[in-house]
Amino acid sequence: MRYYDKLIFELSKKGRTGFSLKTEKIGHCNLYSDCAGLLRKDEVCLPEVSETDVVRHYTNLSQMNFGVDTGFYPLGSCTMKYNPKINEEIAAMPTFNNIHPLQDKKTAEGAEEACKILEKVLCSITGMKRFTFLPCAGAHGELTGLMIIRSYHLDKGDLQRKKIIVPDSAHGTNPASAAVCGLEIVEVKSNERGLIDTDVLQQTIDSIGDELAGIMMTNPNTLGLFEQDIKIIAEMIHKAGGLLYYDGANMNPLIGVARPGDMGFDVMHLNLHKSFSTPHGGGGPGSGPVGVCEKLIPFIGVKVSGFHGNFGVMLRALTYILMLGKQNVKMVGKLATLNANYIKESLKDKYKLPIPTVCKHEFVFDGLINDGAKDGVEGATTLDIAKRLLDYGFHAPTIYFPLLFHQALMIEPTETESKETIDEFIEVMRKIADEAAENPEMLHAAPHNTPISRPDETTAARNPIVKWEN
Ligand SMILES: *Cc1c(COP(=O)(O)O)cnc(C)c1O
Repeated sequence: MRYYDKLIFELSKKGRTGFSLKTEKIGHCNLYSDCAGLLRKDEVCLPEVSETDVVRHYTNLSQMNFGVDTGFYPLGSCTMKYNPKINEEIAAMPTFNNIHPLQDKKTAEGAEEACKILEKVLCSITGMKRFTFLPCAGAHGELTGLMIIRSYHLDKGDLQRKKIIVPDSAHGTNPASAAVCGLEIVEVKSNERGLIDTDVLQQTIDSIGDELAGIMMTNPNTLGLFEQDIKIIAEMIHKAGGLLYYDGANMNPLIGVARPGDMGFDVMHLNLHKSFSTPHGGGGPGSGPVGVCEKLIPFIGVKVSGFHGNFGVMLRALTYILMLGKQNVKMVGKLATLNANYIKESLKDKYKLPIPTVCKHEFVFDGLINDGAKDGVEGATTLDIAKRLLDYGFHAPTIYFPLLFHQALMIEPTETESKETIDEFIEVMRKIADEAAENPEMLHAAPHNTPISRPDETTAARNPIVKWEN
């Protein structure tokens, strides 16, 4: 019997219970005689099931979803890496978990110390001078960082500096945050190598003049490519009176290898819930601390959330960093980069690789080389590949993002996966490519082995039915 075929109410049998405590041994109050007035008028509608039914039902339900704890999750631009369980233990310690933001400071010195250590470690990893932990997500950090840039210009009397340059290879949240901050976005197009062209950038800077607030960059950008001209770019922007914002949500490939502070960035955010192994997804608590260079320290106090930010997430990140230790932290960037390049090179004879250079922690394919299209039969698409991966027990990579290609398939293995897992993934991706070439129609109908196949995605997201109705 497949337990997930039934709702818990459908497993119910009149009179069945999940416990067998002796009633005479528990409690002092007989509800029926002592508190008759408090009793319900009607029977409560609860399922009547045995303990075995309940345990199997919920355990099976938990397996219907895909998570980092159940399998490989190569979602590009999201860093779904392993979340060590020690992080959870430390964050759950009563001495951390039971404190209140308003309690006497003297009684929370340990927590304060933990924040200070984390700030110091992040400064040394990024080359920034101070961090604020108030922002609760990456995009929240972007908004905070941009507010800091705005405050800096306003303080100097530069009221007109309201234009921000955002390359087309930036993460989608960048232009959105800039718009929320009241800035005007000026896009620069990437060149054929997927990088910023310094000539094009200079023209853009010149056309903006003294209205330039700065530039927002994701480096490595959303194609997983490192902007090699970053030092020149920094000089150009600074010379024009602008500041450089660094989107460090995906700091993985740089950890232990290079520092945004050294490249000339003035302000940045990190996603502790990506690069520093704290759980994310489902809109759960995140942390997007913002770091600044020396001259922006006076503006770091913007109040963007209550109290001290998501302290539990900060503790998890600190635990991860301390657990790795100085030597192993230096391996994070190298391993993340090695793993991504290994997958890319192992699959590029089957998948189209529009930008064939060395990547950082992630890279983008543009669909299959042979998608199996024949007369009257449509070839297998990126969506088909993503769905078919589920049949083999792998989560799909990011699909149809970035928007620079039609069949984008963005893969990020992270540094926490073993070679064996990565090899299995490569084998399955090759197998799917062969299946597509022979029988694309089978792929159009995938997944075949999951509890549900292809729901209407809009309806599933907008009008999910999550409640049992009699
Ligand atoms: C995920 C991500 C963000 C946004 O972070 P959230 O915590 O989801 O708000 C911003 N930039 C990049 C490059 C990202 O990958």
